[in-house]
Amino acid sequence: MRCGVCNSTEAFYIREYEGVPFCRDCFKDNFENRIRRTISRHQMLGVNDHVALAVSGGKDSLTLLRVLSRIEKRFPESRITAVTVDEGIGGYRTEAINIAKEQCAKLGVDHRIISFKELYRYTLDELVSERKLSFPCSYCGVLRRKAINLIARKVKATKIATAHNMDDEVQTYVLNMFHGDVPRIARSDPSLEDPSGMFLPRVKPLAESPEKEIVLYAHMTGIDFQTVPCPYASTALRNDVRTMLNRLEMKHVGMKFAIYRSVERLRELLKNSRSDFVLNRCDSCDEPTASNMCEACRLLNGIDVK
Ligand code: SF4
Ligand code: ZN
Repeated sequence: MRCGVCNSTEAFYIREYEGVPFCRDCFKDNFENRIRRTISRHQMLGVNDHVALAVSGGKDSLTLLRVLSRIEKRFPESRITAVTVDEGIGGYRTEAINIAKEQCAKLGVDHRIISFKELYRYTLDELVSERKLSFPCSYCGVLRRKAINLIARKVKATKIATAHNMDDEVQTYVLNMFHGDVPRIARSDPSLEDPSGMFLPRVKPLAESPEKEIVLYAHMTGIDFQTVPCPYASTALRNDVRTMLNRLEMKHVGMKFAIYRSVERLRELLKNSRSDFVLNRCDSCDEPTASNMCEACRLLNGIDVK
């Protein structure tokens, strides 16, 4: 079968939900162009932004690092600082950090690492064993978000970019539905700005890129990424949602895209009913929060969060 774009080369990949066969070069161009389109469609980045890019060492963040660093070269006023959070997960995080370091050095991107231990006095492993946590991900996610906010402000970034892909976004939507968290669905834009300016704007340039194509692109372009999963990943409800959605997609091709587009429409409808948060300062750490104590401090102080 020939490539459906250039028609001159043998296809190596068929994008099933569109029925389009791609040769290697056309797939690579199409993949990168989609990220550029996502960035411009949601007005994610300006020509002089300093982006703090969260790089875990996995395929998504390293792919985004590669594509963004190529885009950034065309805008001399812009800048990227890669930021990696070391949660302190034995036998897992060290390898990912080394990979992130190598890739940043190769691309000439500044790289900063911040750890749970230095910020919160505990590694994630210590929290899990001392507090007998059944669902470490709920701690990890909250503490990591705060760590990224802190380091992004420290390096004087103007935006935070994360590598959430389309599959992640669809999973998050389903999880929010399970939890009845409609306000979070309303605030799930791929480009999110806090009107009070207390939080840095957050953007997700891979939000319209399916995970499967990110893996393909990473392999094609020789990106070395960590393949070992986090030892705690299997405890997360997200893992079950991922399996469920993958099964659905296998049977009903295009299902994930359909859900993604539905969420976009839903968000539009919810926009008018959305009441913006009134943000305060956390009593304990002075970080912005919608209540009197931020989620991270509540968790660390053993106060239940929703
Ligand atoms: Fe953290 Fe869970 Fe991700 Fe592991 S799987 S890094 S514990 S959020
Ligand atoms: Zn706090």
